[in-house]
Amino acid sequence: MTTKDELWAQVQSEFYQNVSQMAFDTFIKPLKPITLTDDVLVLEAPDDVIINHWANNQYNMDFVKYAVAKTGSFVQPELKKTADLVVVPAEVVNAPGFIRESDLNEHFTFDSFVVGEGNQQATAVARAVAEAPGRQWNPYLIYGGVGLGKTHLMQSIGNELAKLQPNARIKYVTTEDFTNAFTDSLRAGEGATSNFKREYRNVDLLLVDDIQFLSGKGKIQEEFFNTFNAITKSGHQIVMTSDKLPKTIPDLESRLVSRFEQGIAMDIQRPDLPTRVAILQNKAESSGLEIPTDMLTWIAEQIDDNVRVLEGAFLKVEAALRFQNQPPTIETAQKALGDLKIVVDREITVERIQQVVGDFYMLTVDDLKSKNRKKELVNARHIAMYLTRTLTDMSLPNIGKSFGGRDHASVLHATTKITDKLESDNRLKETIDALTDDIKKGE
Ligand code: ADP
Ligand code: MG
Repeated sequence: MTTKDELWAQVQSEFYQNVSQMAFDTFIKPLKPITLTDDVLVLEAPDDVIINHWANNQYNMDFVKYAVAKTGSFVQPELKKTADLVVVPAEVVNAPGFIRESDLNEHFTFDSFVVGEGNQQATAVARAVAEAPGRQWNPYLIYGGVGLGKTHLMQSIGNELAKLQPNARIKYVTTEDFTNAFTDSLRAGEGATSNFKREYRNVDLLLVDDIQFLSGKGKIQEEFFNTFNAITKSGHQIVMTSDKLPKTIPDLESRLVSRFEQGIAMDIQRPDLPTRVAILQNKAESSGLEIPTDMLTWIAEQIDDNVRVLEGAFLKVEAALRFQNQPPTIETAQKALGDLKIVVDREITVERIQQVVGDFYMLTVDDLKSKNRKKELVNARHIAMYLTRTLTDMSLPNIGKSFGGRDHASVLHATTKITDKLESDNRLKETIDALTDDIKKGE
């Protein structure tokens, strides 16, 4: 299901398109999603001004409208001031058995995970790990394409272990969380760094999502290496996910690659048709709607490479049935998913970005890669680098390489420059949005 961050990102982007830049910066951007339950998203607001503004304007209703459009379910916002949010004291956080509320998604369990040909082995190992962490399969790496259930399966291990051993210390982080927490602690000094170490190393089970994002981050890799060693040395379990095998992750230290290879890696492959139909049947059951199998099968036939997209398609169909009272037929599904082909984004590569930006500014791709410092050229090059940085997973050094062998500092310079300009330059913002659309959807 949608996470609080995903939902808020989607609602935010709707607000972005519908309110002025100033209103957005003042009343929308400062909010932070805290928790998401079935029908409420709690947002943290830094002051009363924002809360009052929301109360006196249409924002609450707009929020509901955007959330329904995006997810097909009714979610209301609840704004709370930073000081009013209950802060969990450090003693509690560090006590054994404490699992941070936000860490694991309670819906990601083995029960709700449909097992099929593509994920059978990965699931079997996941169950074995939950039953005996730190033993046979350590570290355990789950790898595979986007939206195939890596995060779901990994979190199932955490949820299962919490059930079997209520006192187990379990921590789930994305590689991005890990990176941010570590850099924050460095900035905050001594005490914070040792807190960081305690938090990440004194656990029975550490789940780290999307380790491909360690690519090119030397300092973080070093810290990760130390964390990894501390946990495995004390006989505790690590589970990781990645979209590729460690040895094919660019700019990943070889000592990490070899550590990761000490355990076992299992891939998740695309679900076959029966699995996809079973996933939709589960969804239909929990939605309480009667949806005939031929309709579910038709939907499952349309999307074969990404369960998240499949779920999105289901939500659209569900909305058509629930809110527009359409009959449960293949025709209804066809209508609801009419624009699906356009919605499925094309793969974004640096080549594609260079092409689109070049066309837009009437320059060649070679111009963008050249050392020429003519003003319009430099600007277009900066924009292309910025887009590559924001739309792909490429590391700074690799982006530099793709732009005529520049170093990572020039890429960083280009992206910072554009980010700064975007703060005040609305036309640039429009250009970037238009280019982004084109990169994603163009023919
Ligand atoms: P990944 O981490 O591989 O990108 P996720 O674990 O986030 O993918 O899965 C995307 C969505 O698809 C989630 O909502 C998840 O619950 C669902 N999903 C994926 N595989 C399955 C499955 N085998 N059974 C049920 N739901 C699944
Ligand atoms: Mg994931």
